[in-house]
Amino acid sequence: MEDTIAAISTSLGVGAISIIRVSGKDSIEIVNSIFKGANLCKKESHTITYGHIIDNEKIIDEVLVSIMKSPKTFTTEDVVEINCHGGIATTNKILELLLLNGCRLADPGEFTKRAFLNGRIDLIEAEGIMNVINAKSEASRELALNQLNGSTSNMIKSLRQDILELLANIEVNIDYPEYEDIEQVTNEILNSKIDKIIKKMETIIYKSESNKLIKEGIDVSIIGRPNVGKSSLLNCLLEEEKAIVTDIEGTTRDIVEGKINLNGLILNIIDTAGIRQTEDTVEKIGVQKSLDLIEKSDLVIYMLNNNEPLIDEDYNILNSLKNKNHIIIINKCDLDSKIQKDLFDKYIEISVKNNIGIEELKNKILDIFNLGKIETADLSYLSDARSIALLKNALKSLISSKKGIQNNYPVDMVEIDIKECWNLLGEIIGETYHEELINQLFSQFCLGK
Ligand code: GDP
Repeated sequence: MEDTIAAISTSLGVGAISIIRVSGKDSIEIVNSIFKGANLCKKESHTITYGHIIDNEKIIDEVLVSIMKSPKTFTTEDVVEINCHGGIATTNKILELLLLNGCRLADPGEFTKRAFLNGRIDLIEAEGIMNVINAKSEASRELALNQLNGSTSNMIKSLRQDILELLANIEVNIDYPEYEDIEQVTNEILNSKIDKIIKKMETIIYKSESNKLIKEGIDVSIIGRPNVGKSSLLNCLLEEEKAIVTDIEGTTRDIVEGKINLNGLILNIIDTAGIRQTEDTVEKIGVQKSLDLIEKSDLVIYMLNNNEPLIDEDYNILNSLKNKNHIIIINKCDLDSKIQKDLFDKYIEISVKNNIGIEELKNKILDIFNLGKIETADLSYLSDARSIALLKNALKSLISSKKGIQNNYPVDMVEIDIKECWNLLGEIIGETYHEELINQLFSQFCLGK
């Protein structure tokens, strides 16, 4: 991190102002070398200076330059921000001058990566920054803010502390078995301590999974035979003409997607091609995609036509939905009923055409995910797939250590699993990390962040 990096931090386009950010030990000197006005190297930290960016003696733009000296900056390094007039040509020209005078173009997310590597933020907080930028609903914005203020990190740190105490207990017993004033950690005591931590972790995982759904949304696919009204339902939910609705079977050949915000819960809705045996190759690809999507969806809406009897295909699909979150809807309830409704325990009758039953469907979706009251959800838990996966693995290690105790394995073998749990929890906050993973994570950030 010896080099000084620069990037445009605002989105590139026409706007009143653009900000170019520079970070690194030479940042003030480099900006000063293309600046006409007061000597920036003599300015106090956290001050703003008016002047001009120049290319040799030619004025490029009138700017305000913020000087923020190490260590109280975003990256903990010297940071300079140039506020120039918005516009692609000016902004790019200033960036070009910085690069010609000793800066390197920052990689996406490199400023945040430096903040992490310099110990100013942990990984949960870094992900929080990305989540604030990408938040698409009020709830996901709040989730991200919680990540930023450290409360999510503290939860993991407290778990780690529990594990550390457990390890300390074990080690003292291994190293000083003769000390009488130290509590002897019997298998029974270990077991009950581990049980308590397992319970804590399970609760965190459960609540974090809900938060992940709040953040990323629920993947809902609408499946059913051609012409039952899937595209009509998607359009009705999206309130726009996104999918093409016709009464020629097989019109929705590919997959059409859209997002809706249901009481703060984001639904990523996918309308699939009709599921049926067909000789048409284009449609066949669509059919396979539908089957794959059932697998990947958090919720499947299986749609039937009130005006048609069930056929073998329906039974096959209904069978494959048994272990899946699903809602059966019978559409076209405005037409004569020819369907065997008595075969179903639960279904919702709707008529997309007449806007009947749509509210009931929306409420049912909220019910299934128990997220009807997002405002009461605890948003301080985790929400990123990466950290939840690590937490699940940490839990596995702890459960494995418990099994070891039950099988009377030597305590130092049990300790290996507990240490693994400690390491995995450390990876969540970035205390221990793999270089590749860090690079991959920060590359998802936008340029200039
Ligand atoms: P998809 O192939 O399943 O996507 O079906 P579409 O959404 O393209 O709809 C097929 C036809 O059914 C269109 O002509 C729609 O207007 C019609 N349709 C959709 N919903 C209803 C409904 O509730 N009642 C009636 N009578 N027709 C409907």
